[in-house]
Amino acid sequence: MKSSISKKTYKAIYRLLNRVSPIDGDCGRLCGSICCTCDADDAGDKGFSMGIYLLPGEDRVFTRTEDWLEWSYTKVSEADFPDSWSGIAYFVRCKTPPLCPRETRPLQCRVFPLAPHITGSGELRMILFPAEGLPYRCPLAENEAPLSPAFVKATNTVWKRLIQDRHIYDLVKYDSDFRDEKSLVFLP
Ligand code: SF4
Ligand code: SF4
Repeated sequence: MKSSISKKTYKAIYRLLNRVSPIDGDCGRLCGSICCTCDADDAGDKGFSMGIYLLPGEDRVFTRTEDWLEWSYTKVSEADFPDSWSGIAYFVRCKTPPLCPRETRPLQCRVFPLAPHITGSGELRMILFPAEGLPYRCPLAENEAPLSPAFVKATNTVWKRLIQDRHIYDLVKYDSDFRDEKSLVFLP
């Protein structure tokens, strides 16, 4: 599937997000880095089972020879993706969670626990990732902890740029349409 987001843009996005964190300090200490390690114990001798879908075009940032990542893909027609999507979606698993080269971790790892949401009136807003969509409990999301304003701002900036790509817009809208807005926690 074609992406209008270039490798250069993804790298600029990664650089922007390298400079921010959800809170001041390592939030992994609050939860044992559960968003990286959830299910790792059940993954058999490989020691991992959680994975991350890359956004369209995000694979361009990687060489696919990274020894800390295992690559696979899903045919989008066989999974839960927007109708406009075609071809494949890349899926990566990190082999040594919660350790990874921080500056090259995928985008979805960088923006959590925020998620982009397109409201009924068509506005892009950042929300706390709804708990029902998670197989683990994130203390930041559950407690509605105050997040770093720089992190919220950078994440908002990034998603504003990303949804200029039609397929990414469709994905964000697709996910948003399943949510009950009354139950969401919106960031300012
Ligand atoms: S984002 Fe949430 S679940 Fe992930 S490490 Fe931080 S506190 Fe834990
Ligand atoms: S790539 Fe890094 S940040 Fe993302 S889940 Fe794996 S260990 Fe965690």
